[in-house]
Amino acid sequence: MFDLIIRNANLPDGSRGFDVGLAGGRIAAIEKRIDAAAREEIDATGRLVSPPFCDPHFHMDATLSLGLPRMNVSGTLLEGIALWGELRPLLTKEALVERALRYCDLAVSQGLLFIRSHVDTSDPRLVTAEALIEVRERVKPYIELQLVAFPQDGYYRAAEGEKSLERALDMGLDIVGGIPHFERTMEDGRRSLEALCRIAAERGLPVDIHCDETDDPMSRHIETLAAETVRHGLQGRVAGSHLTSMHSMDNYYVSKLIPLMAEAEINVIPNPLINIMLQGRHDTYPKRRGMTRVRELMAAGLNVSFGQDCMMDPWYAMGSADMLEVGHMAIHVAQMGGIEDKKRIYEALTVNSAKTMGLEGYGLAVGCKADLVVLQAADVVEALRLKPTRLLVVKGGKVISRSAPRIGELFLEGRPASIDPGRDYVPRS
Ligand SMILES: [Zn+2]
Repeated sequence: MFDLIIRNANLPDGSRGFDVGLAGGRIAAIEKRIDAAAREEIDATGRLVSPPFCDPHFHMDATLSLGLPRMNVSGTLLEGIALWGELRPLLTKEALVERALRYCDLAVSQGLLFIRSHVDTSDPRLVTAEALIEVRERVKPYIELQLVAFPQDGYYRAAEGEKSLERALDMGLDIVGGIPHFERTMEDGRRSLEALCRIAAERGLPVDIHCDETDDPMSRHIETLAAETVRHGLQGRVAGSHLTSMHSMDNYYVSKLIPLMAEAEINVIPNPLINIMLQGRHDTYPKRRGMTRVRELMAAGLNVSFGQDCMMDPWYAMGSADMLEVGHMAIHVAQMGGIEDKKRIYEALTVNSAKTMGLEGYGLAVGCKADLVVLQAADVVEALRLKPTRLLVVKGGKVISRSAPRIGELFLEGRPASIDPGRDYVPRS
């Protein structure tokens, strides 16, 4: 007896027409035809069934604050940081919780059930940490939320940066963050990584650093991060977020750097939407793209996953909690439009992110947790093209969100009465 059987599903590996049986909170069977009863059956009608999306880099303390206390006029990173500085003293726990919960509602409807959020620890009040810890608890039945202690104003640069970060970790944040390129000097940036990796090693926590989010090719903190990772035996538990300076680095230097990163098993987290929006701002023409070297890093065996970073906050007025929008942008900025490239981009939004976040029992295989999404698309390549409606979102074997398919009705002489963009335009092979 199954709790739920989803019939006639297409799977992320390209296989078609399988039944997926869920029981006891786990995926209990994936077969061509499951001949068994279930409390509920759903016909996926040849749509893609995928594990849920994961966002390994987000700022849930800032999301939905767009317009508070004013708009970012220049649209630059620096005005965004200044604007956040204006808003921060006005933040209240209640407002932070309300915005974060509202964001999580949207995330669920988009099939986004695993989120790693940075939490700004610069204000010693730590109202951000207090609020997000409450949110982590409240959303636990449907979203796994990981929280990074993030010294936005600099670990050494902010007045009480060091103390606040340690206090936030004492309160129960999960991961050690940092921002070496924003410290006063390169030397302070280097020292901050030494201190932060030591703290992580002592506390047994992972590390996730906003690292080299700049166009300066001499911003080489990733080198220090990789070396400190190896020194403390933190291989596989450290993430380098952004790494945009790698876009502008000398090729010879990168040929030494990437193997060093591979040795440290650094998890690479580019944020394509934000990188293409914020980098290259000091360029006239030609303008750099500013995203890190995704293809080369993947080829070297590094685990690359993509983050959304922002939605409707001081840095980025756009966003929709849609990781396929992130993947869609990644395809363009990394120029990874080949069919195999796109399959790897989809993995980056799902299994690679799960690896970055250290998720247990994630995936679409027998024995994995009964969490999945049914999309209005036939396969992963089509999903990236269409950013389709998430028809169903299942968590622990239960449907937690349902959306009607997007169907266009037409009133044209001699043409069809309706179109389903996820079915009627699939490439004919
Ligand atoms: Zn960020």
